[in-house]
Parts: sequence; structure tokens; C-alpha cells
Amino acid sequence: MSFVSVDHLQKTYGTTAIFSDINCEIEQGEFITLLGPSGCGKSTLLRCIAGLTSVSGGRILLDGQDLVPLPPQKRGIGMVFQSYALFPNMTVEKNVAFGLRMQNVTGDDSKRRVGEALEMVELQEFAQRYPHQMSGGQCQRVALARSLVTRPRLLLLDEPLSALDARIRKHLREQIRSIQRDLGLTTIFVTHDQEEALTMSDRIFLMNQGRIVQSGDAETLYTAPVDAFAAGFIGNYNLLDSAAAALLLERPVEGRIAIRPEAITLGVSIGGAGLEAEILSHSLLGNVIRYRVQARGVQLLVDVLNRSATDLHPNGQRMTLSIDPSAICEVA
Ligand code: ADP
Ligand code: MG
Repeated sequence: MSFVSVDHLQKTYGTTAIFSDINCEIEQGEFITLLGPSGCGKSTLLRCIAGLTSVSGGRILLDGQDLVPLPPQKRGIGMVFQSYALFPNMTVEKNVAFGLRMQNVTGDDSKRRVGEALEMVELQEFAQRYPHQMSGGQCQRVALARSLVTRPRLLLLDEPLSALDARIRKHLREQIRSIQRDLGLTTIFVTHDQEEALTMSDRIFLMNQGRIVQSGDAETLYTAPVDAFAAGFIGNYNLLDSAAAALLLERPVEGRIAIRPEAITLGVSIGGAGLEAEILSHSLLGNVIRYRVQARGVQLLVDVLNRSATDLHPNGQRMTLSIDPSAICEVA
């Protein structure tokens, strides 16, 4: 059996079902990301696992033990929120020690473990500061240390980086992942940011409207979306209905197809292999130029690596276009 096993989990508020049948398995030491749009049920699922919200049905097993009847403090779970939730009137050290007090760890034992936890997040020097004397990123590291100090069996992180600026976010991503690896700590990380999910996770659970619609590693989610939602949420897929797909590919197509913009190649020679296309517009994204082109009456986005001035083509330019057949995904 897996280390974490969520089995037919249900949650309703009044008559509104937030989710009605969540099933998933997580192995010990895995870093799982719950990815999905705002309101799809990510936080509710995490809160159910932590015991901060009651469940309406189903089971959550952690290391073989059913968590549902247990109060939050008996579950052996650490949780970090976007809002840090630090005590403003306590020093960093006292904030971190708080979790241990709840476990009746005090004195030298507590001091040693708080020191270790602060060292993990590289905040030893800040032990005597108060939260208002620290940056957002530092406060989030304190919140992380406060969870780690209790030596949780499972760590839950609910959008811990969403309130931080881009540079700090990147640094903290790496720090969280490295601590998680060192400790072999089974972790569920919530985000609505696809880049965060793709770069950090062993596996991603993609959620939509209270369902896990796809799970797999970053490569699988990126290259083989199971449905139009997945294709729309990850990457910048071109989604074509069957009529447009049939026009473009010159063959009958039953469902919808999805093609990644970087799987389409533009060439300058007219009359060679490939189909004729016209550039309608372009935007410069920095290292990539994103063209909107028209081919066989169908509009497509095409991403071209911006290597030199020869990669920049004016609007109205006629080009040839070819599509890597292995990159054409049929989606439900
Ligand atoms: P996410 O974290 O993915 O943004 P949430 O889990 O916070 O989504 O919310 C999922 C859905 O549950 C939303 O439609 C939200 O309005 C609803 N919801 C969350 N908490 C409550 C609550 N206490 N009472 C009623 N509805 C709630
Ligand atoms: Mg949320």
C-alpha cells in the first residue's frame, strides 16, 4: 500500500459538492504538486488531509492509519499557508518552538530542535527577531521551520510562494525542494502556477472543478494532455476543433487536437516541403518569438527561439510551416 492513500474522498458544504470522489496514492518521499485554477478545490483537499476541515465521506490513510477520526494535532502533519500565520508578538525562535510546545517538547530538547530547524531554512541569525522585522520570504521560511521542527510524517504547503516576488520565489522553490529531498519528507505542494509545478514536482496532480483530471510527471503532463482543459492549462497549446484540424492536416479528424507552439517549425523557402503559411502578427517574449500564423485557413501560434535577427519575420511574410507529427495530441 502507498504511504498516503486517499480513497473516494467527498466534501460538501451544505448542498454544494466541492468534490465527490477524490482518489490518489502517494509514495513515501514523493514531492506531489496539486495544480489547478483558483476555486477547483486544492485548499479544501489539503485542509481535509490536515484535519482542519471535516470530510463528508471516504478515507485518508497515512502509513496505513485512517486519519479521518483523528484531530489535526494527532495526525503528524505539518502545514504551511500562503499567509505565514506567524504570531506577531513572538520572536522567530518562539514561533518555531510553538509547534514543539504543543507536543510537550520543552527545555534543551526544544532549543536544539529549534536551532536545527532554523539552520535548515538558513535563519539561525534571525532567531531573536520579530516577524515585522523580516521580509515576506523570511517569514515564509520561519513558517516552514515551524512545521519542520515537529518532524511531520507529511508536509502540506498551500501556495506558500504565491505572495512573494519572482526572484525570492525561485530561490525558495529550490530551498524547499532541497530540504524536502534531504529529509525524504513526503510533501503535497499546492500551486496555480504551471511553471512552479513543472519545475518542482516528482508528480503533478492536475485538478479541475473538484476532480483530479490527470496525474503524472512534468514531461507527461506537458507533452500528453488528456483533455482540452489540461491542454489549455499547461503550456500554450493550439487547440483545434475537428473541422479546423481536418483542414490543417488534410485528413478526417474525429475529436479535438492540441499542438504545442514550439512543435511547429517555420521555414523561409516557399515551394519546398511543408505547407504555406502567412505571418499575421508576432510578439517578442524575450528568448522566444511567438507568431500568429495562418495556414490552410487555420490560425496557429508558433514559438520560435529568438537566436538572431534572422528569426524575426515581418507581418505578412509568407513562409512554409511543418508540424512534427508526434506532437499532434488528440484530446477529449
Ligand atoms: P482552491 O484552493 O483550489 O482555490 P478552494 O478549495 O479554496 O479552492 O475552494 C473550492 C470551492 O469550495 C470554491 O468554490 C469555494 O468557494 C468553496 N468553499 C471553500 N471553503 C468553503 C466554505 N467554508 N464554505 C463554502 N464553500 C467553500
Ligand atoms: Mg487555495
